Amino acid sequence: MIAKQEKEFEQERRLMVQKQLIPRGITDKRVLEAFTKVPRHKFVPGRCIEEAYGDYPVSIGEGQTISQPYMVALMTQCLEVKENDKVLEIGTGSGYQAAILAELADKVYTTERISGLSKNAQGVLQELGYTNIKLKVRDGSLGWEEFAPYDGIIVTCAAPSAPEPLKKQLKENGRLVIPIGGSFSQTLSVVKKRKGGFSEEDICGCVFVPLIGKYGCKQ
Ligand code: SAM
Repeated sequence: MIAKQEKEFEQERRLMVQKQLIPRGITDKRVLEAFTKVPRHKFVPGRCIEEAYGDYPVSIGEGQTISQPYMVALMTQCLEVKENDKVLEIGTGSGYQAAILAELADKVYTTERISGLSKNAQGVLQELGYTNIKLKVRDGSLGWEEFAPYDGIIVTCAAPSAPEPLKKQLKENGRLVIPIGGSFSQTLSVVKKRKGGFSEEDICGCVFVPLIGKYGCKQ
């Protein structure tokens, strides 16, 4: 089979934005630009490259997935990232969400518990020239204290409730976007920190792999 040209992938990316994201309510211009720019096909294993722009999650090995493009876009839009923001991601996986965040924020910190995934993601992100992303292998349910507080925290795996260390590491007016619920279905929630207190808004139902760790699900 002849390898697909970058131009064809670029066209698939445009179609993904036009057919999967805009009609479902992704309206933030900066978010749409980031999805048009970041080459999602570089973040999926070679055997799945033809599925990179499909309207579904794709396996990335180790029993994990890169989420459906729409879900990545919805969570990113909910995070309301600004140019000077410092954001933390829990669940690096393939590195795709981190690359999207790096297009929108000043600095991105991302944690992953599986070292093989983190290493792969680091390789792809380096190859693409991202210099504003720091990766670390650790239990992300503890956050990443060293660089806290964050303007936004995004958790790309599901927890029974919003982990206390993550709430603590948010700046005043910061946002935590997180799937909350049991093993088989969850609610995508936005937790906002205001005057030291927290409010929680439910966005929609979703299905994510579990956040495994001290303040997540037990293994
Ligand atoms: N954001 C990823 C991407 O763009 O490809 C997709 C993430 S995948 C849906 C969820 C990831 O969360 C998995 O890679 C899993 O290993 C990771 N994970 C689960 N529990 C974790 C924890 N306590 N700390 C850090 N990562 C965790």
